Formats: sequence, structure tokens, C-alpha cells
Amino acid sequence: MNSKQDSDKPEIILTGDRATGPLHLGHYVGSLKQRVALQAIHEQTILVADMQGLTDNAHNPKKVSSNILNVVADYLAVGINPSITTICLQSKLPALAELTMYYSNLVSISRLERNPTVKSEIQHKGFERSIPAGFLTYPISQAADITGFSATLVPVGDDQLPMLEQTNEIVRKVNSLAGRIVLNECRPLLSNASRLPSTDGKNKMSKSIGNAINLGATEKEISAAVKSMYTDPNHLRVEEPGNVEGNIVFTYLDAFHPDENYISQLKEHYQRGGLGDGTTKKILEECLQEMLRPIRVRRSEFLSDKAQLIDILIKGSQVSRDKTEKVLFDVKDIFGLNLF
Ligand code: ATP
Ligand code: MG
Repeated sequence: MNSKQDSDKPEIILTGDRATGPLHLGHYVGSLKQRVALQAIHEQTILVADMQGLTDNAHNPKKVSSNILNVVADYLAVGINPSITTICLQSKLPALAELTMYYSNLVSISRLERNPTVKSEIQHKGFERSIPAGFLTYPISQAADITGFSATLVPVGDDQLPMLEQTNEIVRKVNSLAGRIVLNECRPLLSNASRLPSTDGKNKMSKSIGNAINLGATEKEISAAVKSMYTDPNHLRVEEPGNVEGNIVFTYLDAFHPDENYISQLKEHYQRGGLGDGTTKKILEECLQEMLRPIRVRRSEFLSDKAQLIDILIKGSQVSRDKTEKVLFDVKDIFGLNLF
């Protein structure tokens, strides 16, 4: 974890995931593992971002609504404990939508168009000139989410860095309007695998691109995904030296294998020659099967009790409503809108 942390002072953590599909290995190494480790020390809220999920799926809302509980089950399956982490649903927190509206007046369209993550997502989704306004402005709604909880630390993948930058710009504008500190600036917390590539190595692993190994993947799906993985295209014979840079099998071994020394020996062997892709893939497959087996079992147990998952969201959203309404009151105050 590469964040400077004052060990005496607990952080306020806010993270979230769009409810656009079940969570995948990228979420696990990019953010979920950190959330599990941090939940006992800090005040942590996780937001299931259903409204943000609609910004590019309004034509297919079922995709979002049907994935809300999948995402909650994924949290619980990896070890998020709802008695110490608050899990809430974005659409149940109207203060966040109101904050988004106020912040919208502080951000120019050209600033939104410059956001590199949004830019590349627009390209991927083929929006061209018909970009939904909600999609272009989702960094503002993310700023509302983060500031609505007064978050100081946000565990994210590196695609989210531009969002945090825009959040802090809004925070500075609000504070400067107020003439005092009303909102906190936040810091990202990146893991050492902050952009897990897809198995073909072409893009970041992503729910929307359909290139993910989900946390609930079956043994067969895991096996097929590893077998199809991009390696070194010039490594044609086992006895020849191979390249580990850009070799996705090694990227995944770095991200998931618990024994770093073993992996560095394996890399040396591969670079020297005499180690085949079949063997490295077998090692990776064993590691992923072992890691995902208990997660898959827990996930399906949690999904068999939907009432329990809904109850967790109801309780978490209740607690969060109070927090976000307090921040909304403070922001409205700056604009002189608390007359009655
Ligand atoms: P979508 O395609 O719908 O945007 P996604 O797979 O990008 O879905 P998000 O819900 O947008 O997932 O992201 C949730 C969190 O997980 C963010 O902090 C994001 O940075 C992180 N994350 C997503 N994909 C990866 C990845 N491949 N590697 C590391 N972190 C990731
Ligand atoms: Mg995303």
C-alpha cells in the first residue's frame, strides 16, 4: 500500500463499484483485498453505485438492478464484514444526487471532456457525439460520493486517479467559496496491481468489456481463461529463452501467487529457457483455482439468502443517509440555501 498514513488517526474510507456485473479478479487485487485489510482499523463505507451504472446502461436498466445483490455477495465472499464496514446503495442516498447538482455548477464541460478515463471509455463504448450527459458528468457524481462521506482515503484502481483529481478540484472550489475548510481532500490508495489486464492483454479487465474472470467463475471457466492467456508470442520452443515483460501469465503470477521468491525463480528460469508456457499456465491455474474455490462457495451461499443481502443494504443505507445529509446541509449553507 503506497499511502502515507498517520497511524494514530483513523482514515475515513469510501470506495465503491458500479453494479454493472459481478466483481472480477481486477477488483480483487485492485481494491477489495485492501478494503478487507483496512476495515478493522478505519471507518469504511462501500457504495454499490447503481445510479452510476445507469449512466451507460439506461437502455438496459435490468443489467444494473440484477447485479446489485451479486456485488454485495462478492463483498461478503471475499471477507468484507458488514458489522464493521458499512455497505450502502447509491440510489437510496438522495443527498448524493443533490450534491452532484450543486457541484455541477463548479465544473466546466471542457474539464469533463479532458478526463482521460472518461475519454477512453467514451471511445470504447462508441458514444461518439451522443454521449449521455450523465456519463460525461459521472466524475462529478463520484466527487459527491467521496465528499458526501467526508472520505480521506479511497482504495481504487489506477483508472480512478483522474476522478480523485477532479474530486479534489471541486473540494478546493467549495472550500474557497466558503472561505474555510468544509470538505476534505482525499488520497488514492493504489495496490501493487492497480490495473489488472484482461487475459488477452489488450485492455484493463473490466465488467463492461466482457473480458473478466469473475470471482464466482467455475473451475472450467478459470481453466479455459488461463489456457487462452497471452504469453510471449516469440517463445515458440520450450528450450528457448522467453520474455516475461508483457507476458500476462507472469503479470497474474505477480498479482496472485503468494510466494514472491518462487515467482522470481520461475521468471529467471523462463528467461534462461527450458520452461514452457504449459507449465507456467498450470502453476497459475492451480493458484487461481485454490484462491477462488472458497470465494465461489461463500458467494453462492450468500446469494441463496437474498433477504439477508437486502437487509445489509437497508441498514448500511440508513447509516449513510445521516452522514450524507449532514454534508449536503454544509454545502447548501455555503450557497445560502438553508433558509428554512
Ligand atoms: P465497468 O466496466 O462497468 O466500468 P469495472 O470492471 O471497470 O466495471 P468498476 O465498478 O468501474 O469496475 O470499478 C470498481 C473499482 O475497481 C474501481 O476502484 C476500479 O479502479 C477498480 N478496478 C476495476 N477494474 C480493475 C482492474 N482491472 N484492475 C485494478 N482495479 C480495477
Ligand atoms: Mg469502470
